[in-house]
Amino acid sequence: MYGGVETGGTKFVCVIGEDPQSIISSARIETAGPAETIAGALDFFREASRGGVRLDAIGIGSFGPIEMRVGNPRYGLITTTPKLGWSETDIVRPFEETFGVPIGFDTDVNAAALAEGRWGAGRGFGSFIYLTLGTGIAGGAIVGGQLVHGLGHPEMGHIAVPRRPGDAFAGACPFHGDCLEGMAGGSALAARFGRRAEVLTGPDRKAAIELVAFYVAAGVRTLVYVAAPERVVIGGGLGSMPGLLDAARAELGTQFAGYPGLPEHAGAVFLVPAALGGMAGPAGTLILAADAAERDTASPLQGSNPS
Ligand code: ZN
Repeated sequence: MYGGVETGGTKFVCVIGEDPQSIISSARIETAGPAETIAGALDFFREASRGGVRLDAIGIGSFGPIEMRVGNPRYGLITTTPKLGWSETDIVRPFEETFGVPIGFDTDVNAAALAEGRWGAGRGFGSFIYLTLGTGIAGGAIVGGQLVHGLGHPEMGHIAVPRRPGDAFAGACPFHGDCLEGMAGGSALAARFGRRAEVLTGPDRKAAIELVAFYVAAGVRTLVYVAAPERVVIGGGLGSMPGLLDAARAELGTQFAGYPGLPEHAGAVFLVPAALGGMAGPAGTLILAADAAERDTASPLQGSNPS
């Protein structure tokens, strides 16, 4: 049995189970300060343990950026997040010390990408990109069956995008201004329209969809040219706005401008909606946990962390 925590900017979702179909217990904890929020998650698993659940490992899929390189002195930290009070928070150690089980640790979006790959819209594809459009924008890349990692994790929401002709919005990213997230994330749209995109109606709604479609297509074009994914899966609240995917597909075709001319890029099955909805992240943390348990069994002398 595995535990999983998706630590989001607005809520923590804790689950216990093996896969999305076998979740025996779950909890949602509003994200407040680090100490009380983490304590709430620890309590959830403590309670389950007292009730007889034996956890073999716990997976944590966290909002980032995070330091996930095992052996780095800062391993387990949420690092330079603009989220108030959360910068430099050690999110791994409290779980490690409380439960003494292997901990899998990755970004929330990478966890969601893993879940979409195993149970959702990425199933059967060795190389795909999962992009979530919400308050922020983030993505995970599976290449050759593996999540892309290196010096940390990808930051697809912060890639540079060309400015849409006539768009004078300064951009909402506190770091870059007019990166992808800064131009088309939920926060950017709220700043542009004065309301959350999901509640817009009429011409504002149409304008928002056209904007997001343009910038998402620009981002996807870059990602396609870099990583050659077989499919791009779009998730998140903003990503599920009716009409957005069709607009983004059309815009992507325009921005590809016939290059490299693969018929697959033009098909409706290239840019597709995510299948797992809000369950992707929490379900993915169970994969992180299972992977951590497996590594632990394979190399008992190296402790609970991947080498
Ligand atoms: Zn940015």
